Amino acid sequence: MSELPYSYDAPVSQALFDRAAAVTPGGVNSPVRAFRAVGGTPRFMVSGKGPYLTDADGREYVDLVCSWGPMILGHSRPEVIAAVQDAVSRGTSFGTPGEGEVTLAEEMVARIEPLEQVRLVSSGTEATMSAIRLARGFTRRTKVVKFAGCYHGHVDSLLASAGSGVATFALPDTPGVTGAQAADTIVLPYNDLDAVHAAFEAHPGEIACVITEASPGNMGVVPPLPGFNQGLKDACAKNGALYVSDEVMTGFRTSRAGWYGIDGVRPDLMTFGKVMGGGFPAAAFGGRADVMGHLAPAGPVYQAGTLSGNPVATAAGLAQLRLLDDAAYVKVNDVSAQIQALVSGALTKEGVAHTVQNASNMFSVFFTDRPVRTYEDAKAQESFRFTAFFHSLLANGVYLPPSSFESWFVSTAHDERAVQRIADALPAAARAAAEATQA
Ligand SMILES: *Cc1c(COP(=O)(O)O)cnc(C)c1O
Repeated sequence: MSELPYSYDAPVSQALFDRAAAVTPGGVNSPVRAFRAVGGTPRFMVSGKGPYLTDADGREYVDLVCSWGPMILGHSRPEVIAAVQDAVSRGTSFGTPGEGEVTLAEEMVARIEPLEQVRLVSSGTEATMSAIRLARGFTRRTKVVKFAGCYHGHVDSLLASAGSGVATFALPDTPGVTGAQAADTIVLPYNDLDAVHAAFEAHPGEIACVITEASPGNMGVVPPLPGFNQGLKDACAKNGALYVSDEVMTGFRTSRAGWYGIDGVRPDLMTFGKVMGGGFPAAAFGGRADVMGHLAPAGPVYQAGTLSGNPVATAAGLAQLRLLDDAAYVKVNDVSAQIQALVSGALTKEGVAHTVQNASNMFSVFFTDRPVRTYEDAKAQESFRFTAFFHSLLANGVYLPPSSFESWFVSTAHDERAVQRIADALPAAARAAAEATQA
């Protein structure tokens, strides 16, 4: 993107971004942070408190990204910070087992009935990569079914037709992933059970697992149609494949027991990350004990990690989960519904075609008047309107995900004052979206 219409807004961030670009590809450590989809200067944040972030230029924003989901209690929640300080004071990594990782696993298993055993890892990518390896090792089959627009981290074999940053950049594929790695992946349209049945018929005895986002949030929020996840589960059970539910985004975010707590469809394997780390790198995969028993050292499928179950990360995650009782989810869902209604109202007032879709408190705004059920539907929206909407809100102190293919996230800390600030900023943003023209 050549024109940078908003770069003058943030001179300190721009100077940091210039420094970053010299030593880091594109100036960022995760592509979506570079603002390429919307243009302008990425804001370098220096602190967060409750629902607010403060950037290097000293500007405060209402945060509707929440670190892409993890900060469900808001930033710098005192109980979480205290748990981290307490853990750090005893040392930061031992490379041995520790009680914290056992307690965190127990908390997760207690919340999610099909989760009989878990293995802790350090990122969602690692969790899905390991779950796929385990599914293949357990079934002794090679092929994996995934859905277009679902993102499961940057696992080589799962990057075909992925959402998130891959959607933002419209890269159907990425160099560096070999034909062999992609060849065992079958990509199907989301919400299409007929395509799933056809794939099982075309590849009898070859499909190790079907992996799906429990409720997709990486092509924007596109919930499963009623019966879709159950249909996946049934097709897997009938054909000897495993049903792998990726709850890295939805886990402990959409309810106490994640999306499983909402649809009740019992996965064979599940993956987690984001909320369970409390803002630290902690993630997990788990599920049926007979399947998990195939993992080393109990079984032959190898998987390991130097920092897996890190005592600081597990302390943060555990402190966060313990604060996430039913009342907390009521609060997040309620503030999410308020913000959804405000956004929709403002856009309607300016005559902007839009569709707000939600999965519990996760939601996104598509600039189209048609419901979005697949990745193709999501790509058909008028993303240029999002760009104008985004920059108007940013200029008025509201920080949205810098792409129209992402979920928005709120927290228990989003109080009346934060909601009011969003409400105050919306009319101008809706007008900017209405007046936007295709570049
Ligand atoms: C974020 C995400 C991942 C990847 O997690 P990382 O911690 O970024 O590696 C995997 N699956 C889903 C559904 C996600 O939202």
